[in-house]
Amino acid sequence: MTIRTRFAPSPTGFLHIGGARTALFSWAYAKKQGGKFILRIEDTDVERSTPAAVQAIMDGMQWLGLDYDEGPFYQMQRIDTYKKVLQTMLDAGTAYYCYSSKEELEALRETQTLAGEKPRYDGKWRPEAGKTLPQVPSDTPPVIRFKNPQTGVVAWDDLVKGRIEIANSELDDLIIARNDGTPTYNFCVVVDDYEMGITQVIRGDDHVNNTPRQINMLVALGATIPQYAHLSMILGDDGQKLSKRHGAVSVMQYHEDGYLKEAVLNYLARLGWSHGDAEIFNMQQFCQWFDLDHITPSAAQFNTEKLNWLNAHYIKEATSDAISADITQRLAKLNVQVHAEPNLINVLNLYKERANNLNQLAKDIAYFYAVPVANAADVEKHLTDDIKPTLKTLAKQFSTIEWTAEAIHHEINLVVAQYGLKFPKVAMPLRVMLCGIAQSPSIDQVMNILGQKETLARISASLT
Ligand code: GLU
Repeated sequence: MTIRTRFAPSPTGFLHIGGARTALFSWAYAKKQGGKFILRIEDTDVERSTPAAVQAIMDGMQWLGLDYDEGPFYQMQRIDTYKKVLQTMLDAGTAYYCYSSKEELEALRETQTLAGEKPRYDGKWRPEAGKTLPQVPSDTPPVIRFKNPQTGVVAWDDLVKGRIEIANSELDDLIIARNDGTPTYNFCVVVDDYEMGITQVIRGDDHVNNTPRQINMLVALGATIPQYAHLSMILGDDGQKLSKRHGAVSVMQYHEDGYLKEAVLNYLARLGWSHGDAEIFNMQQFCQWFDLDHITPSAAQFNTEKLNWLNAHYIKEATSDAISADITQRLAKLNVQVHAEPNLINVLNLYKERANNLNQLAKDIAYFYAVPVANAADVEKHLTDDIKPTLKTLAKQFSTIEWTAEAIHHEINLVVAQYGLKFPKVAMPLRVMLCGIAQSPSIDQVMNILGQKETLARISASLT
């Protein structure tokens, strides 16, 4: 049997962290099993679905590299299919027309609530052997209800939560088509999971309540019941349900905030799933390891510090070539244009080790391409009048040497010895003049990459 999983977002907003994790697990499971991963857009809520949200979801998946084998299928383009299945069910007697009016149902609900009962449909139009149905009213367009079994239980072995059993007596006869003929949410999911041959439904546990109804409908259609894995929710750093107020909950926001997709993917993979002690692994490894047996049923708590740690790891691990285009774009957002010189690859080689965020990295290296405004406090502290003569001497020397990091270092050492100073006494003001701040990687390497001409120009501008 070919494994077939799906990601079925409702396009009502961006791809958030929880959705991305669901997509990632479904994708990885299909990859691991040599199966197929399907993208289905559940856009039947026409009021809340937007093309922009569809695009945002696709952008998020594309950024993360969650490629799908089939789809995207849009439910709004499948209405005819749902209508056909509705007719099949009406014909088979597993669904029926219900003419109870809105007012009638409201009155019923009120009576039941007052009597302390759980509000539910009274089965007025439910056909039963030997039962005479009321006269069909001419002015009430009917809805279609699913004829849910009234006895027994519906049960499944949830791959995350274990066995779940619900008494059928708890379940109402669900409306599967509105009185304008449009199919309802749970029904479309059932038809699609059936027709798309889904073998594992991996989704958020906010859908646990839908599952018994969906299983009953699948049974009525004669479908093989898929396995279900309901993923627990993700809590914010503060232990509260993840929501907008936690800041970056959209996956693309992480991109904007300077995270590498490798870090986000690795982070999401560990959000509720584990493989021994493994914390750092790439997607190839993940797809080899991933199973549905090691997903924790308890809620996973978001940990920004850990994500930052992974981000630092993956930035270090990335080649400078691999991140240079991304960094060029981030610099452009800072209004800094990258030129051929200084060579960006050399700059990144020098800075990558120290970075834990791509935006920070871009900011840190901007001075190579745009003369920085020196930090006033650093100027006052390091670029003092007493050191300026030394720096002038040094600048003169710099103009004569062959431009290598070793030669630069040697030159600084000579001057330091000549004036009886400590190395930082000279290195710090050099940093302030060249980088704008007193922190940088080794100054000889910075100068080497910055180039002789630019270095001398910046020193001279600072000393006049
Ligand atoms: N469309 C649903 C959602 O976005 C998911 C339905 C499902 O996975 O069955 O929450």
